[in-house]
Amino acid sequence: MINLKALSRRRLTAIAIVAILVISIAIALLVRALTPRVNKDDFRVYFDERITVAYTDTVRNGVVYINAFDLAEYCELTVVGSQDELKLYASEGEYAVFTPDSAIVDIGGVKVNMPAPAYFDKDTLWIPCDFVNTHFIGVSIVIDTELNKLSVWRDTAEGSTSARPIYVSVTFDRTSAPITDLPATDIKQMISSYTFMTNIDKYKKYLDPTDKKYLMLVNKTTLLGDSFSPSPLTAIDSSLVIYGGSKQLEQTAAMALEAMMQEMRAAGYADVYVTSAYRDYAYQSALFSTYINKEMSADATLTYAEARDKVLTYSAEPGSSEHQSGLCVDFITSTMTDLDETFASYPVYRWLCENAHKFGFILRYPADKVDITGYSYEPWHYRFVGQTAAAEMYLSGECLEEYLD
Ligand SMILES: [Zn+2]
Repeated sequence: MINLKALSRRRLTAIAIVAILVISIAIALLVRALTPRVNKDDFRVYFDERITVAYTDTVRNGVVYINAFDLAEYCELTVVGSQDELKLYASEGEYAVFTPDSAIVDIGGVKVNMPAPAYFDKDTLWIPCDFVNTHFIGVSIVIDTELNKLSVWRDTAEGSTSARPIYVSVTFDRTSAPITDLPATDIKQMISSYTFMTNIDKYKKYLDPTDKKYLMLVNKTTLLGDSFSPSPLTAIDSSLVIYGGSKQLEQTAAMALEAMMQEMRAAGYADVYVTSAYRDYAYQSALFSTYINKEMSADATLTYAEARDKVLTYSAEPGSSEHQSGLCVDFITSTMTDLDETFASYPVYRWLCENAHKFGFILRYPADKVDITGYSYEPWHYRFVGQTAAAEMYLSGECLEEYLD
């Protein structure tokens, strides 16, 4: 005899199991539909041509990276350095220094944070795409993580056509909040951590003077009088100078300069000399008059005032030349015919960008501070301010006017 009760219980159990199964499948499908799909295919990276990059190289900890070497080639940037420190150089000597496993980038002396660290892998440097989008001017990356596609675009200039594109130069933006106001102890620590290739012990007492005169401001609005001359003045070692005989600097600045040039030579830069140092008021006055006469004879229609305005674009008015302070020098290489921006294309310029502050010197007229200094970019002109001030300016990216403000 069939037990009806048992049969209906078995049927109920079966129905319950099927129901649970159906509900589970429905939930699973729902969860899958709601979860964004992660496409782990290789990335297709579009520069002028397509490159395929492994998913695991492109995405790390959820951050999308790009091969900085490929990017540099596409953007016509120069890559130098080693695995410990890789530098991308743009035109006019602008640079960005990346350190593997660090999220801090040095852009022209300003420390900037990346959203994630750079890393060195497969003989190349990988940097976050988002950082390129925020800090590289003239190039952008469109990131598509559904189709795993990176499209790299360069900004074009006027007159550019798709058949014949004219790209603008790619440079770096260092305006984002710099790391400033380091406690004094950190600056002292930074200075004491400098390492040198040669023995500069005899110069060390000159590198970081406390006298405020080393921070004197001389520019087109803050002039020195005709009677100002630095003291004591001392001749720069003759092996370090070129053109026009002996050159002088204020003594402490001269010693710091010798230390810097000793290290510069040890680093392999022998072909670089001081072409100008202290210039007195009378010299600048005579130079200025010569330029005015030259302008007026080249163009007879010019009035004296017009000629003077023209000369002011390239020469300092007597009293406004920093060279009268005895605290600055102009460098030149023996293959340069004029003192001009070509100095920035010599490797020694890069060495100066990275090391001058260690000897208390600053690049006085940077390319991105023309509005503030009132002077065009002068990659050859270095001013002594002492190690502490130079280190602070190196970290903050400020020019002397900003620093003293
Ligand atoms: Zn100069």
